[in-house]
Amino acid sequence: MSRFAWTLLAILLLSGCARKAPDFGEPWKDFSGPAALAHVQTLVDFGPRPPDSKALQKSRDYIRKNLTQFGWHVREQKFAEQTPRGKVNFVNLIARHGARPKKEKRFLLCSHYDTKTFDTIRFLGANDGGSSTGALIEMARVLHLHPDLAQRIDLVFFDGEEAYEKFTETDGLYGSRYFARRIQAMKRTARFRGGILWDMIGDRSLTITLPLNSPPEMARDIFASADALQARDHFTYYTSDVLDDHTPLNDLAIPAIDLIDFDYPPWHTAGDTIDKLSAQSLQTVGAVTAYYLAKFAFR
Ligand SMILES: [Zn+2]
Repeated sequence: MSRFAWTLLAILLLSGCARKAPDFGEPWKDFSGPAALAHVQTLVDFGPRPPDSKALQKSRDYIRKNLTQFGWHVREQKFAEQTPRGKVNFVNLIARHGARPKKEKRFLLCSHYDTKTFDTIRFLGANDGGSSTGALIEMARVLHLHPDLAQRIDLVFFDGEEAYEKFTETDGLYGSRYFARRIQAMKRTARFRGGILWDMIGDRSLTITLPLNSPPEMARDIFASADALQARDHFTYYTSDVLDDHTPLNDLAIPAIDLIDFDYPPWHTAGDTIDKLSAQSLQTVGAVTAYYLAKFAFR
């Protein structure tokens, strides 16, 4: 072999190695659907959890208590915004694991923890707001068992995802828009390699409908993760784009994908209750996400 060929081979081997994720173990085996569902039950028991409510304060206390126990440092990002209902106070929660976060680019794992404000129905948001939040608390425990992975991840609980009237430039996505604005203002966009958003992931009849405009590489790797765990049947594409908390991140050129099950008849009705959910669905999404984090997110 010529020197040129040897050099080429060395470059190929080195670049091949550089593209391989570090060995983070098998966190997907640790994710417990029943544990996630128990967290959802606790949140739902607080009642409707709209922004600036006592029940949402209780949710924050519950999230903080659990995450702290698993070695996470929880920071409150407080802000106030004009809404169709006047000025409202919001609080995002941002959690980091361990005393010394890794210097490399970080990955975001997000959920909204508010529930939509309704005057006429008692809206519990078991799936919409509850499922992803309960699962994210369980994921905090799982990642704690894999500190090398946990140190590279920020857990974000967005407030004010829901619109008071309808999604516009100024109504809805309050928490994620503010979070993105802060990143941009502090010139920290380059610190993040990507993100996953969970929203409505607990439906007994689980079909994760990836928005059509999902970053293609991320969608490919989510499908591959689902395939590896024999869960491919539960993942497909939605018929269109979806406006959700991943959108402000994508607008900053931080590639983010929304794992959302938009095929959910009780959506935004009084019927969004815990009996519509299953531990198995939470387990499926939790495990597929953990697989993605370990195998693809840091490649
Ligand atoms: Zn909603």
